[in-house]
This record gives sequence, structure tokens and C-alpha cells, in this order.
Amino acid sequence: MVSEFERVRAMLAQALAEARSRGASRITELHLVLYDSSPETEANLRQTVRELSLNTLAEHAQVILHPAPSRFICWNCCGLRFESDDPEAVCPNCGHKGFLVPPDITFALEHVEAG
Ligand SMILES: [Zn+2]
Repeated sequence: MVSEFERVRAMLAQALAEARSRGASRITELHLVLYDSSPETEANLRQTVRELSLNTLAEHAQVILHPAPSRFICWNCCGLRFESDDPEAVCPNCGHKGFLVPPDITFALEHVEAG
């Protein structure tokens, strides 16, 4: 299983690559979509980003978290993924009950602001 640490590292690598491709000298804001908005997850995420961004273009970047609705996957019709606030969500395609996407995926990079 990939740890949260590895996930943050991969996300930061993606953000840094994007900043470099724009010729930026630093990342000012990291915008992340958050699928698990528990205070613990949020605090851990911010802490890990801080640690891993030391001595990179993302050092001192502001971490901005955007809460997202829960994500579901439907195994009835080809694994369609969809989002819903309803814990009993049904697939918009076939009406079958959806399954929550594994909760270990807690965040995703949305975009970076660089300067
Ligand atoms: Zn379906």
C-alpha cells in the first residue's frame, strides 16, 4: 500500500514539474482537492507538505484545501466513477448502488499558483 507520505511526495513532484514548465521561480499556492475533510487528515496533510517542500520551489507555498464530495465507483457498469454527497449514492448511469472509492485516497492536486 502506498503511504500518505509517498502520495504527498508524488503530488509535490507533479506540482514542481508544472511550476518548472512555466519557468516559475517559486510556488506561491498549492490547491488540493480534499476527499476526507476530517481535521486529522487535514493537519497531517499540511504537515507532510511542509516537511517535503523544504528546499524546493514549493517551500512556503500556501496550502489551500478544497473539500470535495465523496467519490463512488459503480461495479455494475464498467467501473464508472461519480461524486455525491449522499452516502447511499446510486450510479447516474445505471441506477445501481455505488461503492465508496477506497478512503486511503484523501487528496488530489488541483492546480498550483506560481510566481
Ligand atoms: Zn452504473
